Amino acid sequence: MDWPDTVGVVGGGVVGLATAYSVAARARAARSTPATSVTVYERDEPGAGSTTRAGCGLRTFYTTRTNVRLAQAGLRFWRRTEQTLGVDVNFRENGYCFLTDDGDTAAELDRQVRRQRAYGGPAFACTPEAVDRVPGLHAGHYRRAVIAPAAGVADPELMVEALLAGCERENVTVRTETPVTDLDRVDDGVRVETPEGTETVDRLVNAAGGWAPRVAAMLGDDLPVEPRRRRIAVLDADAPAGLPLTVDLDSGVYFLPGPDGRLLAGGHFSATPTVDPDAALTRERNPDYERDLLDRARHCTAVFDGTTVAESWTGMYAMTDSRVPVVERADGVVHAAGFSGHGIMQAPGAGQVAADLVAGRRPSLASAAELARDRPTVAPDIQF
Ligand SMILES: Cc1cc2nc3c(=O)[nH]c(=O)nc-3n(C[C@H](O)[C@H](O)[C@H](O)COP(=O)(O)OP(=O)(O)OC[C@H]3O[C@@H](n4cnc5c(N)ncnc54)[C@H](O)[C@@H]3O)c2cc1C
Repeated sequence: MDWPDTVGVVGGGVVGLATAYSVAARARAARSTPATSVTVYERDEPGAGSTTRAGCGLRTFYTTRTNVRLAQAGLRFWRRTEQTLGVDVNFRENGYCFLTDDGDTAAELDRQVRRQRAYGGPAFACTPEAVDRVPGLHAGHYRRAVIAPAAGVADPELMVEALLAGCERENVTVRTETPVTDLDRVDDGVRVETPEGTETVDRLVNAAGGWAPRVAAMLGDDLPVEPRRRRIAVLDADAPAGLPLTVDLDSGVYFLPGPDGRLLAGGHFSATPTVDPDAALTRERNPDYERDLLDRARHCTAVFDGTTVAESWTGMYAMTDSRVPVVERADGVVHAAGFSGHGIMQAPGAGQVAADLVAGRRPSLASAAELARDRPTVAPDIQF
């Protein structure tokens, strides 16, 4: 394997940090000489983009094999950070619960349950009446429930902390408040411009989340990733003990226990346009959205009766058509973007794939062809 001397990573969200950690750790394990020097350029603080605005749930129940593989790697990683990196990310293995009253969706869920078993991810279908971990569930509103037990929720702030601990251990330089303002391909790599000056790295990784198309555009590249705004709310009520991340696939509402034990709820209920990423993140409330959210959540369970929204904010889903990210090497630059609402669970796996691509190696975890932007078209994966 051919590890470059210098690697630059644009973006210090969960994907950029996981990639930087993976590159540095694997280059060291391969005894690359001289040691590969890895620098993360983050225009704000680590995790300040969408990462710390997520719920956040970790599932492996997807329809595409690539998403399953990336998420399985993520689950393995996040379960063990206390042992491996000394930071407990407050992972609670409460599982996921998918609900539907739609006949076609129920049939599709049944098909997916069988596929999950083939992929090695346990899941089972049951009647809504048999779901015992969602208190107050209006079982009569649904015809099918699917439980995915190997899944859970964690704390995104602690996940950033865990990755920063890994980066520190591997001597990754994380430069905060350092926006990359321009990029240029040069003979021996990529020239990176920041307000502090210009430097050249042998290999560049674009892990800029909703800003990734802009970073790609600095190199004249048109990355097929669309940033969309997504909102989530914190309720003034504690989540019931052991509550799985529960999603009503018909109405789009989902809810889960937040890091501090309060109920979180989110979902998008109408078509959302592509947004200017610089204008996408806000902590301003949206009363219309919050009313709609509560109506949909109350249709699902009595847990929301009498609750109100304490706060809500927005982040971004960086979308691809299939909801499978693009992790590919194009003209010497590795892009890791388009995580479509599942970047936190997939970041450790994506980091491994990106590290392979940095080293010029065929990824072992997932198919490079299925992660490339010109892959064959597949139906959009489950996403809410
Ligand atoms: C409401 C909501 C709920 C979600 N729930 C979940 C969930 O349950 N599970 C899950 O897995 N995912 C969830 N997600 C999605 C998840 O948050 C994202 O997929 C993930 O955070 C993407 O990580 P990232 O590192 O690619 O992007 P980001 O976290 O956005 O990081 C990109 C970074 O790049 C930096 N940057 C941009 N441009 C430049 C530049 N020119 N120079 C330097 N730095 C730059 C930004 O400042 C930012 O910090 C949710 C998202 C939202 C909004």
